[in-house]
Amino acid sequence: MDANDAGQAARELARVIEAVERIVVFTGAGISTESGIPDFRSPGGVWSRYRPVLYPEFLASAEARRRYWQYKKEAYRDFDGAVPNGGHLAIAEMERHSKLQVLITQNIDGLHEMAGNSPDRILELHGTERWVNCLQCGDRTPRSEVQARLEAGEDVPPCRKCGGFLKPATISFGQALPEDLLQKAFEESQSCPAFLVIGSSLQVQPAASLPALAKRHGAWLGILNREETPLDPMADWLCRAPAGEVLGQTVKLWTRTRESGV
Ligand code: NAD
Repeated sequence: MDANDAGQAARELARVIEAVERIVVFTGAGISTESGIPDFRSPGGVWSRYRPVLYPEFLASAEARRRYWQYKKEAYRDFDGAVPNGGHLAIAEMERHSKLQVLITQNIDGLHEMAGNSPDRILELHGTERWVNCLQCGDRTPRSEVQARLEAGEDVPPCRKCGGFLKPATISFGQALPEDLLQKAFEESQSCPAFLVIGSSLQVQPAASLPALAKRHGAWLGILNREETPLDPMADWLCRAPAGEVLGQTVKLWTRTRESGV
């Protein structure tokens, strides 16, 4: 197929979704670019302007915490007004039609939940930017409230209950992924009939090993990503057209087929 033709890709993908009993969807930053959130590798994006603060550095150094919050303050401005696009809505539609086995995401923007996927069906491997945790007393605050404090001039906001370090509920570089979540992601990947990657460069481990695991256990593997990925050679289906456009069309075609019983 012409990997750039969104219409043709949508027709093929709709047929696969119809044919399989259920599907694991795996998303990365690329699904949210059509919502205005730059992906990790976009030139000039906020991610490219800051050296990542490692978790041990965050704990050990006041200067690192200042740098961390400066970057978080800027990055959150992209997330703040963002709304789900056709890609997110299509995956929510798959869940409504009981096709979605589970949604594994590397994203921290909360747009899948906002699109209507239920939290118990989403595995947020890298956590969420929508909440902030106190590392000392465990208190949880909406990220928007902490952003308001940053915008008002606080550079390193302390916990209002105990004065401890606040940190968004995301996994930092140098911080382990929650073991139970990762285990569940491995189990789901090994037991699915189909696995669809959307908008991920598949360069961040261990998340990027999941599609290969699914394929080794016999799943159909689809990759919908603008650029090449290291797993392209093992994919059963590849598409480089914009994810939101392809998925929007796919779900329209697929739901129409279901409703007409054709
Ligand atoms: P990545 O930036 O490494 O890769 C994104 C991929 O998506 C790229 O290969 C790009 O070509 C592709 N892409 C971009 N727009 C697309 C579109 N409209 N349609 C199809 N493909 C598109 O992202 P990653 O693999 O998710 O890894 C980056 C890390 O950064 C993750 O850990 C993630 O947590 C974090 N991150 C998250 C967000 C978010 O939550 N929205 C944004 C940036 C980075």
